[in-house]
Amino acid sequence: MNSFAVIGAGILGAAAARELTRRFPADHVTVFDKAPAAAAHQSGHNSGVVHAGLYYEPGSLKARLCRRGVDLLRDLALEKGVPYEECGKLVVALRPEEEGRLRAIHERAVANGVPGVELIGPERIREIEPGATGRLALHSPRTAIIDYPAITRVLLEDVRAAGGTVHLGAEVTAIANGPERCAITTEHGTQAFDAVIVCGGLQSDRLARLAGGDEYPRIVPFFGQYSKLAPEHRGILNGLVYPVPDPAYPFLGVHLTKRVDGEMLVGPNAFLSLGRENYSGRRPGVRDSLEVAASGAFWRFASRNSRAAAREFAAVVSRKRFLAQAAQYVPSLTGAESTPLTRGIRAQAMDRAGRLVDDFVIEDIGRATLVRNAPSPGATSSLAIAEHLVERLIAGHGLQATEPSAS
Ligand SMILES: Cc1cc2nc3c(=O)[nH]c(=O)nc-3n(C[C@H](O)[C@H](O)[C@H](O)COP(=O)(O)OP(=O)(O)OC[C@H]3O[C@@H](n4cnc5c(N)ncnc54)[C@H](O)[C@@H]3O)c2cc1C
Repeated sequence: MNSFAVIGAGILGAAAARELTRRFPADHVTVFDKAPAAAAHQSGHNSGVVHAGLYYEPGSLKARLCRRGVDLLRDLALEKGVPYEECGKLVVALRPEEEGRLRAIHERAVANGVPGVELIGPERIREIEPGATGRLALHSPRTAIIDYPAITRVLLEDVRAAGGTVHLGAEVTAIANGPERCAITTEHGTQAFDAVIVCGGLQSDRLARLAGGDEYPRIVPFFGQYSKLAPEHRGILNGLVYPVPDPAYPFLGVHLTKRVDGEMLVGPNAFLSLGRENYSGRRPGVRDSLEVAASGAFWRFASRNSRAAAREFAAVVSRKRFLAQAAQYVPSLTGAESTPLTRGIRAQAMDRAGRLVDDFVIEDIGRATLVRNAPSPGATSSLAIAEHLVERLIAGHGLQATEPSAS
């Protein structure tokens, strides 16, 4: 009998643990998370969007796993009764200079096999979203919204139902990663496993170091502040409205996102976070900040990106300014009121040269398989990433597993 461990009870760890129980039904799976509840970090503080796969480099892990992830996630949500709404999305060009980039995104979306995408002009924009305006837009009718914490809980329920164990409030403080076994230490003791999958999100580089991995890619935390529009603006859009992303900073720009509970959100923006888990913004993490300040890679990044940083900082300090940007896409938002919500903090990996790592990064070291970079669309792709992780583990350790399920 094999024994497996998963570190992290975010959506990736939960999905990986469930996939292990499906491929190894006779074996035992244990999940460890330092937080007292599942989905306590990125998986519980994100936009709740099921991305259709518009932007990603064809053939990349992101492009492949996002497309498969959407299908798996939709089926699971339907099966388990988790709210899933295909509300659609418009990526809107306001200025002529954005049109070329939008057409390039359309080509990528088609290459990635995203269903139903089309480029549309101002009239069709108004038909789909009477509240929005623009010169040209990419319409993605299958982009959806979902409750990711609910999905994470469902995945962990399946793990428990299959006989697995989930330890919450159990911080992993040491990993002894040998050629045959991998031992994990928490305050409750040390346990050895045949193989371990590590999905540590904002702590993934530190956990990788514990498992014998390299210092890079290293996590640099970027926070995103959301605000909630006043109730009278709840119905202003049928779906999501996004700007044309700047390829250098794909996560920047004002996003209008509907939530499954009907709230309409503006944000997130993105700015360096003083603390990997500093959600209030008032409790800077000393170790986290010192590590960023001591990293040559970060300063190489900062020197190249000071203009974008200044622009984002202006949006961080002024909610009015952020809303004014949103009103360019939805004119009725001029002068609208909003309330700040909790932040999300992105685990963004950076390489030694100070470049943000775009694609998902997975590494195998000894008996551990580690997710080192899983930014958006990581939640969308979670079930497909889990399949990929478990396939690697099976191939890497020559294990006998049952056939993957057809879904
Ligand atoms: C602001 C924001 C918006 C986003 N929007 C979207 C979106 O709309 N759609 C989308 O697809 N993706 C989105 N993403 C990305 C998505 O949220 C992530 O890709 C996904 O949640 C990653 O899941 P995870 O399980 O790897 O990480 P996490 O959810 O961060 O989980 C990592 C877990 O590891 C645990 N952990 C860490 N260290 C230890 C330790 N030493 N011992 C034990 N446990 C430990 C943590 O407690 C945590 O629970 C967004 C992300 C952010 C931040």
